[in-house]
Amino acid sequence: MTTTEVENFPGFPDGITGPDLMDRMRRQAERWGAELYQEDVEFLDVKNSPFTVRSGEREVKCHSLVYATGATAKRLRIPREDEFWSRGISACAICDGASPLFKGQVLAVVGGGDTATEEALYLTKYARHVHLLVRRDHLRASKAMQDRVYNNPNITVHFNTEVADVESNSKGQMSGLLLNRVDTGEKSVLEAKGLFYGIGHSPNSQLLEGQVELDRSGYVLVEEGSAKTSVKGVFAAGDVQDHEWRQAVTAAGSGCIAALSVERYLASNNLLIEFHQPHTEEVKKEITDRDVQEGFDITRTKHRGQYALRKLYHESPRLVCVLYTSPTCGPCRTLKPILGQVIDEYDENVHFVEIDIEEDQEIAEAAGIMGTPCVQFFKNKEMIRMVSGVKMKKEYREFIEANK
Ligand SMILES: Cc1cc2nc3c(=O)[nH]c(=O)nc-3n(C[C@H](O)[C@H](O)[C@H](O)COP(=O)(O)OP(=O)(O)OC[C@H]3O[C@@H](n4cnc5c(N)ncnc54)[C@H](O)[C@@H]3O)c2cc1C
Repeated sequence: MTTTEVENFPGFPDGITGPDLMDRMRRQAERWGAELYQEDVEFLDVKNSPFTVRSGEREVKCHSLVYATGATAKRLRIPREDEFWSRGISACAICDGASPLFKGQVLAVVGGGDTATEEALYLTKYARHVHLLVRRDHLRASKAMQDRVYNNPNITVHFNTEVADVESNSKGQMSGLLLNRVDTGEKSVLEAKGLFYGIGHSPNSQLLEGQVELDRSGYVLVEEGSAKTSVKGVFAAGDVQDHEWRQAVTAAGSGCIAALSVERYLASNNLLIEFHQPHTEEVKKEITDRDVQEGFDITRTKHRGQYALRKLYHESPRLVCVLYTSPTCGPCRTLKPILGQVIDEYDENVHFVEIDIEEDQEIAEAAGIMGTPCVQFFKNKEMIRMVSGVKMKKEYREFIEANK
């Protein structure tokens, strides 16, 4: 969950950020014995029982499973999209809005629903002005969001407008957007240094393709009022099976139905094995404050802040891995424990430093960071690789192995 403030989750009268809500849910699940592995599942077989779930690290056999992979932001597929992806085009204002690239600039958001309006409102914290580009002649967002947009003097809404492509300046940076009026066919150029997509999502159901029934848009089909898919023992929850409500609380509710369904399914098929895990203090692989106490000490592997980065850049004989994050970036929270585990595997061969781009704006700007999370690897004062977004653990591992 990458949203900033969640104001409508029951039990949090003052609101809560999406990442904090996830942290709390995770801690609660662990307290009750759940074992959590932060890994990418690459393969699923639910045609043969027991089912197989395979990641880069392990293979698990199970008699029942809950599929809750959410949905991914859609892209416009304009001609220069790949060229400017993460260099001006982003699908996550909350992750990238604080980037030096966008601060104080004129930005544009595409879309007319809740996601686009939330992104536009969020971006006004950093941008000089935000243009909301809406293909239809009205907003689909909730009335409350519409009011907030219309009442914000820093947002201009353009109806009947679609983005045809990106324009660039002589330095190859995004300078504007080529727009088409869908009602008149008129073309124009809008000055903008950033373009944010808020045009909906595609369900992440690829792993189940050809195995369970999906609807035409790829959402997993479940029996009405239940979490049952077309395959016995396979249940689906959250946005991957819900194109209508798509809220944190409805995802949590359907997750609860799915979990209870699993228990009922296993019990009724004599497959339920109860086990009670001794309560042990989990060793968190995330980069915690304990890892980065005050004072720079080059013998330690994990560091935080620009002072440490400068010292390591000049003095470290090891491969230096720099993670750029921002406080409201949900994917950063996903990446931290993943990278933390890989760094632990290569302790003494690698130095790690985390840079909060809001705290250390100058260094982020100097490093050319255009969005978070972003990882840069340095060796002998030279940047040898930059990786944007969250990648699979094996990708970081392979790179460190080859360059340590
Ligand atoms: C900008 C924005 C603002 C929002 N604001 C609100 C709000 O204020 N209130 C509200 O109630 N809702 C809000 N929502 C909606 C809410 O975030 C979603 O409805 C909710 O997060 C759906 O939960 P989920 O568990 O189904 O999916 P997600 O939260 O997307 O979680 C799916 C998880 O599955 C993981 N995954 C996917 N594929 C794999 C794989 N192959 N292997 C391993 N893991 C995988 C993903 O990494 C992810 O962690 C907002 C959404 C957006 C985009």
